[in-house]
Amino acid sequence: MTVSPLLEIHQDACIKCYSCVRICPVKAIRVDVNTEYPSIIPERCIGCGSCFMACSPAAITYRSSINEVKELIASGEKVAAVCDPAISGEFHDITDYRKFVQMIRNLGFAYVTEVSFGVDLVAKEYKELLEDFKGKYHIMANCPAVVSFIEKYYPELVSNIAPIVSPMVATAKVVRQRYGQEIKVVAIGPCIAAKDEALRITGDGRIDAVLTFTELRRLFNEFNIRETQLEFSEFDPPLGNKGSLYPISDGILQAVDISENLLSGNIITTEGRNNMLCAVKEFDSRIDLIRRHFNIFYDDGCLMGPGTSQGGEKFLRHTLVTDYANKRLNTLDPEAWKRDIDEFKGLDFSRDYVPDDQRLPLPSEEKIEEVLEMIHRQDQRDNDIGCESCGYPNCREFAIAIAQGLATTDMCHIFSGRNRQEYIKTLRTTNEKLAKTQEALRISEEKAKQEKDSQLEISALVSAMLQQLVSGVVIVDENLRILHANKAFIRILGEEAAMVDEVIPGLEGADLKSLLPIHFYKIFSFVLSSDESVERKDVQYGNGVLNVSVFSLRSKKFVGGIIRDMYMPEVYKEQIITRMKEVIDQNFDMVQKIAFLLGEGAAKTEQMLNAIIESHQSQNKK
Ligand code: SF4
Ligand code: SF4
Repeated sequence: MTVSPLLEIHQDACIKCYSCVRICPVKAIRVDVNTEYPSIIPERCIGCGSCFMACSPAAITYRSSINEVKELIASGEKVAAVCDPAISGEFHDITDYRKFVQMIRNLGFAYVTEVSFGVDLVAKEYKELLEDFKGKYHIMANCPAVVSFIEKYYPELVSNIAPIVSPMVATAKVVRQRYGQEIKVVAIGPCIAAKDEALRITGDGRIDAVLTFTELRRLFNEFNIRETQLEFSEFDPPLGNKGSLYPISDGILQAVDISENLLSGNIITTEGRNNMLCAVKEFDSRIDLIRRHFNIFYDDGCLMGPGTSQGGEKFLRHTLVTDYANKRLNTLDPEAWKRDIDEFKGLDFSRDYVPDDQRLPLPSEEKIEEVLEMIHRQDQRDNDIGCESCGYPNCREFAIAIAQGLATTDMCHIFSGRNRQEYIKTLRTTNEKLAKTQEALRISEEKAKQEKDSQLEISALVSAMLQQLVSGVVIVDENLRILHANKAFIRILGEEAAMVDEVIPGLEGADLKSLLPIHFYKIFSFVLSSDESVERKDVQYGNGVLNVSVFSLRSKKFVGGIIRDMYMPEVYKEQIITRMKEVIDQNFDMVQKIAFLLGEGAAKTEQMLNAIIESHQSQNKK
């Protein structure tokens, strides 16, 4: 069965504030270069839940076990709840712990037991381990986030993790021993990392589901379970002793009186994200000088875990836990508790761990330098400083994360602010250019419109002028379709054309071939195909003769024709004048040629006579 990741980021709710990136102690959140959305890298995540608690828009959720638990209960199998003692700090709104025991029973659990007894057993194991010092210092393994952190980021320290199961697992073993091996176990606690821890445990310590306190509250609401409607109910045995103090970080030590005396003790307890990071780092590098065992919790004690209601007050919860522990101790039967310890102390509480190195190789100095220059932070290359708004302790660490593909440059406010300024500047220049282009476009559009208007006007004038001519004018396209024809053309063609004109005013679009005889329109076809003009050609048309000139207006596209009716008085007179002028011109030309020839003959005769005279004169002198 594939299990969904422990934590997920939902992009639809994410506002890209990167609080999660900043808080994640192991940089398990990558920001996508393109979408700029963060996403959790499950292999790197230690399940601490810090990102979940830091995300104010609630874009991060953890794997819910509610349906799993409902299915387990509905299956008809016996299910035992094992409750972390931190429940006393969480449910301050419930007046007596015996009420919430009954509320849990009402959900359908067959048994309701407490992890405090498991704490007592585990604490006893620790006492023996720590007192039997053989030269190796240990880190206690009660916090699953700390265990995961060491396995992934300090794998060489794995052998220093105390080889003892967590109280949750110890309690599951006890419950199965007492109530049957086949029983299902649901752990109820403040921790979400325990959900992943449970996946790794097999055998009699296995946990079938882990419910957080907030999930438990949801179930109470869903099934409308209210303490006011219920009577008291006690936990099912075995009952815990000082293990009830477990939610407070050194509670497990007090459970078996492990000395915390600063002078004589040999164990250091610490809690919280930053303290945990420092503690493991120092354990790794300085244990030869520190020479102490470490009891480390990631959260501010389990009572502030990410599975508790958000906004809880630490010291109020601390007080509620100690009050609860006192109450339990006042009613505890020490003899019965001792008998129970003796009964279960023989169980196997050992555990091992697996190194799972998730450390990324450090990029080369050149690469780091390149990134620092890219984000304009090269001046910070040797410094440990930075505004930390990107989520990294200094600019160098940020550059390393970028080089490792975990972060993007835009997470740097200074860089993205500068980019924004440059972007605004570019945008402004572009806008100005755009405005200029638009203005130029507007002017050229106006000009084009003016030109078009004046062309239309000229065309109308030309058309009007053509209509006034006594000669027929026609313009046709390459298909001999009429584009323009004047009234004189229609009149010259006669009645048939006049009828077509009535249907198609101006004969526009009419086929010249249907209006003219073949020998006539062939002149137009010839000019179209050859681009050669035909001038003043007499063409027989009906009973008369037309004088036709056809010329190309645009090569192979448009031709125009001027047709004159030779029998029209104006044309006739003009033609006679033109023709007479032609005859006179021809005669004059001929006379000139004759005169030239006569002139040339006379000159030759003169030359000959002059030569004879000259020869006579010279003979006389002799
Ligand atoms: S904390 Fe992370 S997941 Fe939540 S809104 Fe901010 S960037 Fe998105
Ligand atoms: S749970 Fe912890 S380790 Fe995992 S992504 Fe969130 S902050 Fe990082």
